[in-house]
Amino acid sequence: MLNGIGSWLVKHCDRNQEKPAIIHKDKCFTYREFNDRVNRLANALVELGVRKGDRVNALLFNTNELLEAMFACAKMGAIFVPINFRLSVDEVEYIVRDSGGAIFIYDERLRAIAEGLRERMKHIHHFIQVGDSSNQDEAHYEQLLAGANDDEPAYEVRLEDLHMMMYTSGTTGKPKGAMLTHGNTLWNAVNVINFLPMNEDDITFTVAPLFHIGGMNVFTTPTLYKGGTVVLEDQFAPQATLETIQKESVTTLFLVPAMWLAMTQFPKFDDYDLSTLRFNISGGAPCPITVIEFFQKRNIPFYEGFGLTETAPFVCLLDAENSLRKNGSVGKPPIHTDVKIVDAYDNEIPVGEVGELLVKGPNIFAGYWNQPIATKEAIKDGWFYTGDLAKQDDEGFMYIVDRKKDMIITGGENVYPVEVEQVLFRHPNIKEVAVVGYPDEKWGESVKAHIALKDSDEPMSLEDIQKFCDGKLARFKIPKQIEIMESLPRNTTGKVLKTELRKQHKKGAT
Ligand code: ATP
Repeated sequence: MLNGIGSWLVKHCDRNQEKPAIIHKDKCFTYREFNDRVNRLANALVELGVRKGDRVNALLFNTNELLEAMFACAKMGAIFVPINFRLSVDEVEYIVRDSGGAIFIYDERLRAIAEGLRERMKHIHHFIQVGDSSNQDEAHYEQLLAGANDDEPAYEVRLEDLHMMMYTSGTTGKPKGAMLTHGNTLWNAVNVINFLPMNEDDITFTVAPLFHIGGMNVFTTPTLYKGGTVVLEDQFAPQATLETIQKESVTTLFLVPAMWLAMTQFPKFDDYDLSTLRFNISGGAPCPITVIEFFQKRNIPFYEGFGLTETAPFVCLLDAENSLRKNGSVGKPPIHTDVKIVDAYDNEIPVGEVGELLVKGPNIFAGYWNQPIATKEAIKDGWFYTGDLAKQDDEGFMYIVDRKKDMIITGGENVYPVEVEQVLFRHPNIKEVAVVGYPDEKWGESVKAHIALKDSDEPMSLEDIQKFCDGKLARFKIPKQIEIMESLPRNTTGKVLKTELRKQHKKGAT
């Protein structure tokens, strides 16, 4: 009896076989075609020796093959491990070693990484190449599919079984494999659809990477749960995104703030007809207020979401109607998820005060792979400790104040970098900004702003910044140092790598 997420495809095939499920460039797969390919891959993996609970690593772009591999694993109970294609060989090796998978599916454009791994990792028994089939040494994806049958794999898969392991992006340390169950992805989809009434006519555009939870679960899996269509693209560019929205009549779109920011800075934005868009979500990092205002001005419904890999990811969403009134908030939790804010002793704190945000619900992950201690620290009594500081207002709207680890204590006062960044974002010549606290003999820590300028010919000094912040921020929050950079170091989801800035600062100081 199949009741994991693979059963969604079976049901949609019964009901609506010829409906497009996946569109990738010039390829379009109906639910029937997609399900057949998924079955063939699942059966081929079984032939190669993969069994329930085994890990299948995949280094793929946002392509139909990535989603086929995810659902093939789901149907036979294997654990899909999508890996960030921008990682170095050493970083990929770390994940593949940690996950212990014997299968490695990769895109031919990433052959150099596969070659590097082949030398070092004897426990990978099968390399499967997607794309060019001229490499005779390698099992080729399409040939595997062609040689397998398309019968439904007869495996019992339960909601509590693992279906995916996503390595957190490592903005705060070494990546950890977050174990997600079929139930996590299902309940996330239910939460999304309860909040945003999607239906089978919805068409989502997934350009945010599928190896991160945002690309995979904000709209992609909920769309497939509902029987809608997923349009895939692996390279983000504002103009191409606008063209796709128009051409494919896209209705739902998830992007990370850096992508939304780039969209708003595209000079011909207003030349496109975006009237099909119903639900647009920014998430993964704080969204600059200027971006929200941009969409409000154009009456394009814009939602800010908050979530984490460990929560599959949906925790809170601010609905478009409230985005002006509750600017800066991430809204409220969905129906099947609870949140609370606690102090250092785990006591719930009063409205308006800042504490750590805890989350409970069927979307909470099963723990970190091979890391029982980290798992125990992260989940207590069913509550997941997010490591994020938050506060709630008297109407129940949540505000993410900052990451616990990023908070700055200067002269005994707490400074939340995000608050300072939001003020600096309003400066007409600031394109990117990240505020970090550095050790300081006098103040304990001092506030420093790393800034990238829109127009680099226009000089900017510390005094300019301090003058701009005067009256907008308390004096202790105003940066005491600035550094002008060409651009800020970011990970693939567009998050600024503050660990990288800290390293660079330390180097500069020694
Ligand atoms: P690592 O755990 O390795 O540091 P990561 O935290 O970047 O990586 P993700 O699960 O991708 O891993 O990101 C979750 C984090 O992103 C949250 O804990 C929070 O700090 C931040 N975040 C997500 N959405 C928002 C938002 N709307 N506003 C502010 N911060 C957000």
